[in-house]
Amino acid sequence: MNGKRDYYETLGVNRGASEEEVKKAYRKLALKYHPDRNPGDKQSEERFKEISEAYQVLVDAEKRAQYDQFGHAAFGDGGPFRGGFDFTTGFEDIFGDIFGEFFGAGTGRRRTRVRGEDLRYQMDLTFEEAVFGAEKKVKVPRQGRCDTCQGTGCKPGTSPRTCPSCRGRGQVSFQQGFFNVSRTCAQCRGEGTIIGDPCPACNGQGRVRKFHTLSIKIPPGVDSGSRLKLRGEGESGASGGPPGDLYVDIQVAPHPLFIRDGLDIICEIPISFVQAALGAEIDVPTLEGKVKMKIPAGTQSGKVFRLKGKGVRDVQGYRQGDQLVRAVVETPTHLTPRQKELLRELAALGGEEVHPLSKGFFDKVKQIFG
Ligand SMILES: [Zn+2]
Ligand SMILES: [Zn+2]
Repeated sequence: MNGKRDYYETLGVNRGASEEEVKKAYRKLALKYHPDRNPGDKQSEERFKEISEAYQVLVDAEKRAQYDQFGHAAFGDGGPFRGGFDFTTGFEDIFGDIFGEFFGAGTGRRRTRVRGEDLRYQMDLTFEEAVFGAEKKVKVPRQGRCDTCQGTGCKPGTSPRTCPSCRGRGQVSFQQGFFNVSRTCAQCRGEGTIIGDPCPACNGQGRVRKFHTLSIKIPPGVDSGSRLKLRGEGESGASGGPPGDLYVDIQVAPHPLFIRDGLDIICEIPISFVQAALGAEIDVPTLEGKVKMKIPAGTQSGKVFRLKGKGVRDVQGYRQGDQLVRAVVETPTHLTPRQKELLRELAALGGEEVHPLSKGFFDKVKQIFG
């Protein structure tokens, strides 16, 4: 082709035009010279080909760069883009891009795949289940196929009717100016059929909410606030879309003896003041049963002992916490006269040196108040 017009000139844009400007210019011209608008007009058809060719080059960064460097020669026999232009492929892209659904004709029934919604489920666990893991059966309410109508949405014994608006095509066409426009049929929403007698169980939806039993493996080490994700166990998708996910939020019940602090377990053990004073070996409850623990002589109330590795294993199984045992010295009550007598005797014997804390305290009081 000799005497080809400059592509920029064809679209009426300057050489520095942005992609947006190129698209805009093309849209305007394409609407004007589109063959549908100018039936039988050879000149418009030629012009339309010209602007489409210019557009295909200028909207493509690589082709545009070649054109800027070599001009039309870039697309001649020796050029990198020889072989001319394809006015069919890419054409729909251009229009899909620029005109949206305006040129819906010929695309046929196109229904949107919709991903199912995510579901959330709160799971209550005992302290031990959270620490050691568990296998739990849960009933999750989610949309499923209606059994009454087998998912058809029709009252049993009836069947869907061909949509009268689109005669089963799912699309309706109408003339708008020079254009023949197709749209998804509003009455049947593109299905091509409508339900005359809706199923009473699902209201014609073909789906009902029902309980779905699911077995969930809880890994050891979860805690309140942990969230498990079960891929694909949410609501089912529509029109072939993928299902959503199920999120399981963990809530752990308190334990009568243990308090959890991350991977550590805290527990308080009452000891008598005799045990505290003389030292003792006591039984301490842990997650894995009772263990013996030595209390050294002279243990003060509130002293914390650490049992290494007796805490919770983390979810990945890499680390294990400790158990922290807090000794609480219990003051004796309801003493017999004999016991009281012995304690008075003890008090008479005991000097300041057996109560170092008290000595320090009263020394300070003396310093302050004289
Ligand atoms: Zn039904
Ligand atoms: Zn219809």
